[in-house]
Amino acid sequence: MNTDLQTVTMMAGSLKAALEAAQAMVTLVGTGKARDQALKVQDEVFNAHQTALTAQVAQFALLDEKRRLEAEHVKLIAQIAEHDTWERERVRYKITRLSDGYESFGYTLKPGAEGDEDPHTLCPHCFEARKKRVLTGGGSVLGVETLKCSDCGFVAKVSRPMTSSPSVSLQTRHDVGGWMSR
Ligand SMILES: [Zn+2]
Repeated sequence: MNTDLQTVTMMAGSLKAALEAAQAMVTLVGTGKARDQALKVQDEVFNAHQTALTAQVAQFALLDEKRRLEAEHVKLIAQIAEHDTWERERVRYKITRLSDGYESFGYTLKPGAEGDEDPHTLCPHCFEARKKRVLTGGGSVLGVETLKCSDCGFVAKVSRPMTSSPSVSLQTRHDVGGWMSR
């Protein structure tokens, strides 16, 4: 409990006790001027108690707002850290054409950014969604080598089609109107 709330809660508690004492006094003093004064005291203490209760409610609301803002702050710090981490990764890669024969692309490490990492190709769709997903061998389909994303299912063609199968169409779900045209 914060100090202001503690103070106002203590105040409300004291005023409640004072109000009860004032109410008891009213029943004890009988009639006449003494009773009038006792009633006046009771009214004043009642008003003070109500004010303290209102202040207590306001303090609870302030405390709630403070907690909400603190949680929001923690969330934003985490988001900024995540953004920075991604930015550091993102700038190490460049979009690369994977095949002479197809409009087939993936992200590969820029020259000089390899470090101790082996060459690899990242899924362009997952990359746009700020995820690093390495394309792995999708096998050869009718003479066309492919790389596949195990996350989103994207298939990239990485070699020219066989000249003996000119009519073969290996359109994948991303190749037509895919990410380049979005
Ligand atoms: Zn993917």
